[in-house]
Amino acid sequence: MEDKEKKNVQLRNAALDYHSDYPAGKIEVVPSKPHGTQRDLSLAYSPGVAEPCMEIYKDAGKAYDYTSKGNLVAVISNGTAVLGLGDIGADASKPVMEGKGLLFKIFADINVFDIEINEKDPDKFIDVVKSIAPTFGGINLEDIKAPEAFYIEKRLKEELPIPLMHDDQHGTAIISAAALLNALEIAGKKIEEAKVVVNGAGAAAVSCSKLYLSLGLKKENLIMCDSKGVINTKRTGLTEEKVFFISNTEADTLEEVISDADVFVGLSKANVLTPDMLKSMSKNPIVFALANPNPEIDYNLAIKTRKDVIMATGRSDFPNQVNNVLGFPYIFRGALDVRATGINEEMKLAAVHALADLSKEPVPEMVLMAYNLKSLNFGKDYFIPKPFDNRLITRVSMAVAKAAMDSGVARKHIEDWEEYELLLLN
Ligand code: NAP
Ligand code: MG
Repeated sequence: MEDKEKKNVQLRNAALDYHSDYPAGKIEVVPSKPHGTQRDLSLAYSPGVAEPCMEIYKDAGKAYDYTSKGNLVAVISNGTAVLGLGDIGADASKPVMEGKGLLFKIFADINVFDIEINEKDPDKFIDVVKSIAPTFGGINLEDIKAPEAFYIEKRLKEELPIPLMHDDQHGTAIISAAALLNALEIAGKKIEEAKVVVNGAGAAAVSCSKLYLSLGLKKENLIMCDSKGVINTKRTGLTEEKVFFISNTEADTLEEVISDADVFVGLSKANVLTPDMLKSMSKNPIVFALANPNPEIDYNLAIKTRKDVIMATGRSDFPNQVNNVLGFPYIFRGALDVRATGINEEMKLAAVHALADLSKEPVPEMVLMAYNLKSLNFGKDYFIPKPFDNRLITRVSMAVAKAAMDSGVARKHIEDWEEYELLLLN
């Protein structure tokens, strides 16, 4: 057996054992109140429980005071676009949703119910989510296929008064946008002048591109490609989302449009950016090859091809991992703590800037130790924070909470920010 194959078998066995070790799965429900005496039980359940019921009946907002709603997020999927595995169905998506629950808990102390819904019809799916929404303080939509995901998220955002986000779209957009701002700074380029090629036109690519536009990228400097090539005026039968990105160019292929581009953002599939294409890009080219598990161009091949490349991938074994875990725990933490009615552009941009700024600060010893590193300095090999950076919880959550308050979507206001910071650190 080849070394690589051996490693794959080892990883497969370790992953299956990890999940099946007793108790099976990755999360469990733990009571948060005393329950050792008859009196405790008469408060927790009948007859005492009728009191908070009636308080909430009179004022639905009281659910935040008397139930776990305010710190409970639903991670909801129909299993139609799971990781890079495709439409494997609701049952098979459960390990991913439980995993997301684990990450919410360990990084931001948010409780999660993972909900797998066996429904592909977008309207029926929306009805189910709306019906169960009263249980939750927030909803993280996950691994739902495009273009249905756009419609599902849009309607649920409009119709539900709680923070809701399709993480595959916006999580990726927020992290990659923070990375892009810093990479441009390292390259000595301005976003307003940068020529950007986005390869891929799915859930992640569309949402990333829209966020880059709101950060100052000029629409005429953005070219998007899908599996059929450049999205230009010659194309017919495009979805609504793709129509928005039509470019006024005669060029039809990635090879043509990548020439002289400052930035390549790949949200498509493995090995579609060739060394020759990379060579044709402008000085200090920025390459975000984010396809998982294998990027649009291999990291080592890219840095061998051009010394001046500034690179990020979706992988943890290379520098600058664009990893959604830098965002969603803290975005929801901040949104829940001010009981925001949604997650708006202002809150997303606040998260982008908090992440970009944090990358430029000196890295504390604890973070270096977690990664077994001697030093980590802002530059080509480090322009996005590391997931085990314990400053993320305060920087990102506080920025998001503040943006929610400033943009008028907070139902609860934080007055003592120092106290809030201490609360987050505990
Ligand atoms: P998606 O909705 O299925 O979109 C995939 C897109 O890629 C489609 O628009 C498809 O074109 C396009 N495509 C396929 N082959 C292509 C090619 N040869 N050239 C150009 N475009 C091509 O999937 P998604 O959720 O957006 O994810 C896309 C990729 O990004 C996946 O590999 C995923 O793992 C990765 N991703 C990474 C991160 C991260 O943080 N690192 C986050 C999210 C996603 P058509 O529209 O013509 O089918
Ligand atoms: Mg996902």
